[in-house]
Amino acid sequence: MAHLRFKALEEIQKRDTVNVNIPSDKISDYFAQHSFGLPQMRENLAPETYKNVEYAIKHGKKIDEATADAVASAVKNWAIPKGITHYTHWFQPLTGATAEKHDTFFDASSSLEKFKGSALVQQEPDASSFPSGGIRSTFEARGYTAWDPSSPIFIWNDTLCIPTIFVSYTGEALDYKAPLLKAIEAVDKAATYVCKYFDRNVTRVSASLGCEQEYFVVDRALFSSRPDLVMAGRTVFGHNPARGQQLDDHYFGSIPPRIYNYIKDFEVEALKLGIPVSTRHNEVAPSQFEVAPLFEDLNKATDHNQLLMDVMQKVAERHHLKVLFHEKPFAGLNGSGKHNNWSLITNTGVNLFAPSSSARENLQFLTFFVNTMKAVHEHAELLRASIASAGNDYRLGANEAPPAIISIFIGQQLSSVLNEFEKSGNVKVEKGDNMYMKLGIDKIPEIILDNTDRNRTSPFAFTGNKFEFRAVGSDTNVANPMTALNLIVADQLRKFAKEVDKLIDGGMDKRIAIVEILRKYVKESKKIRFEGDGYSEEWVKEASKRKLANIKDTPRALEAYTSKRTKKLFADHKVLSEVELEARKETMLENYIMKVQIESRVMGDLALNHIIPTAIAYQSKLISNANGLKGLGIDNASTIKNIKKISEHIDTVREGVLEMTEERKRVNKIEDTAAKAAAYCDDIKEKYFEKIRRSVDKLELYVDDEDWPLIKYRELLFLR
Ligand code: ADP
Ligand code: MG
Repeated sequence: MAHLRFKALEEIQKRDTVNVNIPSDKISDYFAQHSFGLPQMRENLAPETYKNVEYAIKHGKKIDEATADAVASAVKNWAIPKGITHYTHWFQPLTGATAEKHDTFFDASSSLEKFKGSALVQQEPDASSFPSGGIRSTFEARGYTAWDPSSPIFIWNDTLCIPTIFVSYTGEALDYKAPLLKAIEAVDKAATYVCKYFDRNVTRVSASLGCEQEYFVVDRALFSSRPDLVMAGRTVFGHNPARGQQLDDHYFGSIPPRIYNYIKDFEVEALKLGIPVSTRHNEVAPSQFEVAPLFEDLNKATDHNQLLMDVMQKVAERHHLKVLFHEKPFAGLNGSGKHNNWSLITNTGVNLFAPSSSARENLQFLTFFVNTMKAVHEHAELLRASIASAGNDYRLGANEAPPAIISIFIGQQLSSVLNEFEKSGNVKVEKGDNMYMKLGIDKIPEIILDNTDRNRTSPFAFTGNKFEFRAVGSDTNVANPMTALNLIVADQLRKFAKEVDKLIDGGMDKRIAIVEILRKYVKESKKIRFEGDGYSEEWVKEASKRKLANIKDTPRALEAYTSKRTKKLFADHKVLSEVELEARKETMLENYIMKVQIESRVMGDLALNHIIPTAIAYQSKLISNANGLKGLGIDNASTIKNIKKISEHIDTVREGVLEMTEERKRVNKIEDTAAKAAAYCDDIKEKYFEKIRRSVDKLELYVDDEDWPLIKYRELLFLR
């Protein structure tokens, strides 16, 4: 196989930068030209129809048949001149990828291009090929996709793509998006109610999201020559390069030209799709980069992130590159995350997480701030579960990634505000008093965006006017963590309103009532606040003292999906039923098992078929060398020492792989999915992966570079 490595290395010598066709100097000339959302509907629909659609979107109402027909016809007429012949319902099944099934507009019987409202609104993909976590056997086999008009239709891959939700015929959600839409509705309802304590004009609160997406880029030939990257998305072997991340010269350094063109190219495609990508830069590790769009309405941002990842994959092909979204493709280097910047914004344009110069608005800010903190405190384990995946397990809790312990960083200024606030308990506010001053909340600095006060080691940080959920994995469909976050905040706000209303009904002043309850929450949720170094060993100890959960692996983390607390939460807001939660957990466990199983197999194949034969061949060379030396009467002790070392490592690898394979056979027979996933974690991954890898990586150092079969880290990371 070494020849594959050298062929790949030869191939990349010939690489050139691929030219990028920038449609215009002005982005506004092509922004959203492949998107059919509200602005395009306004242009292409009769005013009455447009009003209907807009109303339906705003209020989550059904779109009637006539309106659907009109939209279908308009979108068809918009797409056909762009050379589009097919359409598809685009959805997000629990596999993690997006799915589509293409149909043509062409109707052979009439020889016309047709697109009816009914085809826009609903379709029946073959649900049997998508995971349902057992729902299908208990319920009805078929599922359908239903149009989500709140996310823009778009053209991608020469196809008109209609964003949809995917549900079973008996109504169970089979995708990521259906529960997200319900969670968005729940937080809107609860937040709007609470906003009315402060401003009667608020009728709607929308959640916003901006995802900072981290990724690695490697040459395609190098990628293809590594079966582990191809099969598992990560390298299971590979010795650290001499020049790793130590130099940190990559961060904010200049982007290499080939990659730069690739980035420009996918940005153009993204912009055409209406994805407002705005920043690009190098990340910490070599060959690691980040892209961040401007924040958008949560549902749209979620679809856009899924779509962006797809765009980045496809455009990479043109540049003979491969983009990696795996959370930890390379051991010893930084992993990739997806920071979810999240806020709540009213229809009157107020960001509820932005401190203001007005004291009254600051009480509102504190209300939302403290309730979010309390929500995270109450449901930290659900948040942890919402980001759990085989890939993210390699990243969370490692010493360069957010810890698996969920805590909140709020910064020094807000910490002191909260501490003051808590102490001001017995302050008597009398008529004519400046209540805000007495409570110490009159002076929340308007701008808390102090960059020196950023904590990059926190999984959940307040960053001035938004929260940043940083523990999300780079490959994750953000609908999952965002469903959890919005739902727990909705629930918390609802409880808050109930408590405040009770005090008001008992005759207490509204503002005093709010303050009373907030103060209680600040006290109750104290242990979730952490301002120190989240990567440190002390924090692990401190967190354990505080009784915060530190759940290190996916099989255990996913348990939170079916805890009593979670079930009640999802049921209270009618987001997912018990059956749906069980099914989701089951699907995620199966996904975990499959991932670890693939890694284990790839490891075994590579070790037995490539690494060991190479090492033995090299060892034979050393043996004849030792014999030759001996014949000449020259001391061969050091060669013999090497031969012994190599032997030991070969034995470790061989025995490890054989034992691991036996373990797999045993574990595969376990019927209970949760027990099986736990066994894959403990008895396969934890027990063998590191052990086998350590010896393989040592062999990489011993064996002649000319003979080594796998592309090395230095080649993967520095050649482009
Ligand atoms: P950083 O966190 O690295 O300082 P930025 O401030 O540029 O980065 O923001 C990162 C992401 O957060 C961007 O996608 C940005 O659009 C998004 N963002 C900014 N403000 C908000 C907000 N109020 N709500 C949600 N996302 C936001
Ligand atoms: Mg950030």
